[in-house]
This record gives sequence, structure tokens and C-alpha cells, in this order.
Amino acid sequence: MPTNRQILLKSRPTGVPSAANFELGESPVPEPAEGEVLLRNLYLSLDPYMRGRMSDGPSYAAPAEVGKPMVGGTVSEIAASRNPNFAKGDIVSSYAGWQEYAVSNGAGLAKLDAAVKPVSLALGLLGMPGMTAYAGLMEIGQPKPGETLVVAAASGAVGAVVGQLAKLKGLRAVGIAGGPEKCKFVVEELGFDACVDHRGENLRERIAAACPKGIDIYFENVGGAVQRALWPLLNNFARVPVCGLIADYNNTTPSPGPDLRTILVKRITVRGFIVTELWPKYPHAFAELAQWYKEGKIKYRIDEVQGLEKAPEAFLGLLQGKNFGKLVVKLA
Ligand code: NDP
Repeated sequence: MPTNRQILLKSRPTGVPSAANFELGESPVPEPAEGEVLLRNLYLSLDPYMRGRMSDGPSYAAPAEVGKPMVGGTVSEIAASRNPNFAKGDIVSSYAGWQEYAVSNGAGLAKLDAAVKPVSLALGLLGMPGMTAYAGLMEIGQPKPGETLVVAAASGAVGAVVGQLAKLKGLRAVGIAGGPEKCKFVVEELGFDACVDHRGENLRERIAAACPKGIDIYFENVGGAVQRALWPLLNNFARVPVCGLIADYNNTTPSPGPDLRTILVKRITVRGFIVTELWPKYPHAFAELAQWYKEGKIKYRIDEVQGLEKAPEAFLGLLQGKNFGKLVVKLA
């Protein structure tokens, strides 16, 4: 009987995972039931998010199950079909996990255009990582010609696409990558304007030198030391699509700095503002506030101090929470 070799999640790691967290399993090749297909997996995608699936902490997705094949995207050939929508020999994108065979009822399978080669592009540029780059950049990055974009993991699945899209949109694209070989590839093959090796000293200075006009879009792929070095170089009104934090995935305690993981997992929008700039946008605000105050729908407590000479003491108290409500000094 043919066997289906599988890589099972054996145990959940603490910190850096090891080979001991996985084990090779074998089971009979499954038989498709009526309406199902048998998938023979040709390619398996390996992605940073899988580190998250190995753990069972709170996340946006359910963890992989211990004792079961690891989850993962695949490109598969239909080896047998009892589903009218698929014929033997079709090549599909699938989510069949770390194993050689799987059955599927067809849900989530997408036939691939055999003319587009290699078919493994469906796990990269023309799959989840490509869409990550495209959607994250367009939706949150809001790229504009002449701006400067920085992306780390620049030679990888997502970053390579982010930087090249930025170039196509007329931006200066600066990559960050680990080591001279990757940096050379990012500039010479992918066409980024510059690439900074995150492994050396003086990272902030070197990123600043590569971004003479500052940074308008930081496509956040890694977090960690790169994020901390780069953050002060962001321009006014910069956008930071928080895509991934791979530098932190094995951490057992949170990284210093803003809690980007919560921002990512909960899809939180964080945006600074200065009231004077938004003021002209809301000419109706005071009329509404006054109306609601008159109607008792808004309550407002004023903490009134008598006499100019009390101003210093009252102000210092404000910084310690001694005021209770809006602090004003009555002068006359
Ligand atoms: P890559 O193909 O880029 O591979 C990961 C790369 O990350 C490594 O090659 C390495 O590149 C870099 N890296 C690893 N550790 C560190 C570190 N400590 N500091 C800096 N760089 C590091 O992966 P992907 O393109 O698939 O993923 C990139 C990021 O996007 C990940 O964080 C991933 O989780 C995230 N992602 C998020 C999605 C979403 O929906 N939000 C979807 C898909 C991906 P180098 O040697 O150049 O540093």
C-alpha cells in the first residue's frame, strides 16, 4: 500500500524551535470519497507565520494541532478525482500541509494556469506573499511618486515584491537584508536603489545615509533592532504597514518599544495628530459641543483656582494629577 509521509508537530516550542518539535509520520495514502479529490502535493510553502502556528498563545489564527501534520500552503496535482470540478492532472493551489498527499472536497482549491511557470510562483509572487506585498503597500502604505520606502527582509518572499512595486510606482526603494550577498541581489537583480545590511554596526546611520529625504513608508516585516534603529528616521505623515515581526517570533518576553504585535494581530490603526492641523476640518465642532452641553448630554467639570499668584503651584499640581477637571485660573 502506498504511504503518505507527513511532518507532524510533535511538541510546542518555547523560544527557538528545533527539529525535536517535529517528527516524521507515515499513514496510508487517503482514498477520496464521492465529491473529493486526492491531492499529490508538488510544492510546500514554508512561511514565517508557521512559527506562530506552532504555539498556542492568543493569535488571529488557530494553532496547528500537536500530533497532526503542520499546516501550510501547497501546489498539488490532482492524482484522482471524484469531484466534477477537477480532472486528474489538474494543478491547483491548495492548503494541504506538510505531507505528500491529502484529500479535499475542493473547497479552497484554485486551478493554476499551466502556462505560468514555475508553478511554485503560486506560493510566492502569485500567492499569499505577493498579495501581502501588494495589498499592504497599496492599502496602508499609500505610495506616492518621489517618496522613500524602506522594507526589511528585502530579498525574501514579501519584501522583494514590496520594493519592486515601490519602484514601479516611482518611489525610492531601500531594502534591508542580512549580509552582502543578499544586499547585492536586492540592488543589482531586484533594482532597489540601495540596500543596508542589518548585521553591521551603526545601523541607523547607514539607513539614514541611504534615505537622504527620510522615510515615508516603512513596510514593517521584521521588528526588533531594525525597527528600533529606523523609527526616528520616519518623516512627518509616514505610513507603517505592520506586516510581520519575524525578529520577535522566538522571543519569550516582549521586545522593547511599541507593542507592534498587538497592532498587527488586532489590525489597530495608530496615527498621531496635531490639533491645529485638523481644526479647519471641523468647523461645526463647537456648535455641536455647545448644543450637547446645553442639553446636558455632555458634562464638563472646571477646576478653578483663584488669583494669578496661584498659577505656578496649580500648574505643577496638574502634572501630578492634583487638578480635577479642566484647570483654569480666575484672574478677576
Ligand atoms: P522571507 O522570505 O523574507 O524570510 C524571512 C526573512 O526574515 C529571512 O530570510 C531574514 O532575511 C529575515 N529575518 C529573520 N530574522 C530577522 C531579524 N532578526 N532581523 C531582521 N530580519 C530578519 O519571509 P516572508 O517574506 O514570507 O515574510 C516576511 C514577513 O512578512 C514576516 O514577518 C512574515 O511573518 C510577514 N508576513 C505577514 C503576513 C500578513 O498577513 N501580515 C503575510 C505574509 C508574511 P535577512 O537575512 O535579509 O534579514
